Amino acid sequence: MDKSQIAKIFEEIAVLLELKGENPFRIRAYRNAARTILNLESDLEERVRQGTLTELEGIGDDLADKIKTMVLKGRLPFYEKLKKSIPTGVLDMMQVHGLGGKKIKMIYEKLKIKSIAALKEACEKGKLSRLKGFGPKTEQNILDSLEHMQTYQKRRCWWEAMQIAAPILDALRKLKGVRKVEIAGSMRRKMETIGDLDFLVGSSNPGPIMKWFTTQPFVARVLGKGETKASVKLEGGMQADLRIVPEKQYGFALAYFTGSKEHNIEMRQRAIKRGWTLSEYGLNSVNQRRKGPFASAKKPVTEKEIFHALGLSYIEPELRENCGEFEAGEKHRLPILVKETDIRGAFHNHTTASDGRSSLKEMVAAAQKLRWEYIGIADHSKSSFQANGLSEERLMKQLTEIRRLNASKQFRPYIFAGVECDILPNGALDFPDRVLKKLDYVVISVHNALSQDEKTMTKRIIRAIENPYSTMLGHATGRLLLRREPYKVNLNKVIDACIANNKIIELNGNPMRLDMDWRLWHAASEKGLMCCINPDAHHTDHLQFYRAGVNIARKGWLEKEDVLNTRPLKQVQKFLKEMRT
Ligand SMILES: [Zn+2]
Ligand SMILES: [Zn+2]
Repeated sequence: MDKSQIAKIFEEIAVLLELKGENPFRIRAYRNAARTILNLESDLEERVRQGTLTELEGIGDDLADKIKTMVLKGRLPFYEKLKKSIPTGVLDMMQVHGLGGKKIKMIYEKLKIKSIAALKEACEKGKLSRLKGFGPKTEQNILDSLEHMQTYQKRRCWWEAMQIAAPILDALRKLKGVRKVEIAGSMRRKMETIGDLDFLVGSSNPGPIMKWFTTQPFVARVLGKGETKASVKLEGGMQADLRIVPEKQYGFALAYFTGSKEHNIEMRQRAIKRGWTLSEYGLNSVNQRRKGPFASAKKPVTEKEIFHALGLSYIEPELRENCGEFEAGEKHRLPILVKETDIRGAFHNHTTASDGRSSLKEMVAAAQKLRWEYIGIADHSKSSFQANGLSEERLMKQLTEIRRLNASKQFRPYIFAGVECDILPNGALDFPDRVLKKLDYVVISVHNALSQDEKTMTKRIIRAIENPYSTMLGHATGRLLLRREPYKVNLNKVIDACIANNKIIELNGNPMRLDMDWRLWHAASEKGLMCCINPDAHHTDHLQFYRAGVNIARKGWLEKEDVLNTRPLKQVQKFLKEMRT
């Protein structure tokens, strides 16, 4: 378990103890420990090995022991037992926004409410507002949150789903009798959010694999189990399906369970036109007496061979959405998609100067570890006071530090000095031109007055794009996947303004943002829009988010040439300089 997972469990333990009416000091100890761990700069595993956990503020022997168990064993029996002592329906209420342990305890004890459904009913009937400390406003907030949960809660962002899926995939790969294994479905297509996980295994002996899958500690409940197919609810609530097929069917099953519904419909149509039927089992002739195209195949058929049989080039999983891949695949004009290894740096990264959790040097060192040629630092500007945005003076101090660090040659990556400059409600930028001029580049972002109407917001952003010193637009719609809707903006007009002014739109790789949306990139880049894939890192660990950005760029049909930060340092320096003249 990593720091954030451990902090989350401590946070949950605090709520659980609150629910049980435990000593407030003990509860506060868990909350404090959660914060300490989350803010910890050093390596937690290292501390466990050296036995130096108790040196941390608020971590005594007992908490140190618990941290050790989680780091080494990946679970905490104390927490599991605590959870079991509380009815499941009451635990569910912990997910409701604004309901802490104390409130849930009152609802449970005074009103005998033990499930989300009963909670909803009580709110609708106004029963909660009769409790001390609750009012009609609380009731409305709970109802809003429940509504939100119904729409969103079952899904995860891709990154989080991958953290859940990867260890299962690894374990499956190592099982005896597993010849082939992959996560199919929306996960493989790199959709921004994932409903459930679809594991596919090629094997001639499904029994033991099925038994293993349905009896693991990560399984909370088995929803259904047959000889070759099982559905389980994982700990944490995600659903995972496993299908086991003979190796000779594997390619067909992989294609079938990967493609979106719309993509698969078109695939079947293409088969029918050729007198065949396509399914997860194979590609066979409609006419029983005729043979299908692979009737005499010696080796298991691959996805590539299936596409070829249907007159298409190989279509990458990310493109299997029926968004133009068939037309392009027929003419063998599919894009050569940008890859993770094409990325040579990134421009939207924060440090401890604003709301980042790693220092400038730590960020550059982490970029060096990734073998990047350059890294851009873009901390918040002064109007983002909630994010400790930089004043002109602090920005200039950082600029000097960056220039000095570059001159010192202490690190291999070149450091570009930038800023994430707020776009003010009227479209002006947060710093005057004479300040922006001194920087290498400027990311412009909207962080406040998000509820402006579409016309005002569009005008506001375009005015900022037209500023001669703006370089790229950050997180174009401000959306937070599964949490916050995008602000209203006419992106087509924004895209056109960027192209007309030679400006870039970033593809924000933060797994909760992935903004601008992949559905817009193909057409926008055809019109000439340049992309820059940025992690929006607030910690050295977050630099990894560029990979989530690459996923989305691939879904948006982007090639290496469409993305600024695939270019070598010299070219980028020239590009940024020319942008300003
Ligand atoms: Zn931002
Ligand atoms: Zn940012």
